[in-house]
Amino acid sequence: MKIISCRHCGHEIDVYKKCDVCSKVKQFICNSCGNKTEEEIHSQCMMISMDHVLLSSN
Ligand SMILES: [Zn+2]
Ligand SMILES: [Zn+2]
Repeated sequence: MKIISCRHCGHEIDVYKKCDVCSKVKQFICNSCGNKTEEEIHSQCMMISMDHVLLSSN
């Protein structure tokens, strides 16, 4: 896994958001300047989670 640092200040960044489906990190935040990375889109996971919602509502 690659180490990511803040593009603005170079500070180490922390996990901000994890994928509900695959539990991989989707977004990081810098505790120093509050800068967030772009959120990764997991299209497959989104489909799975939508299926799950549909199934659980039945
Ligand atoms: Zn995912
Ligand atoms: Zn920063």
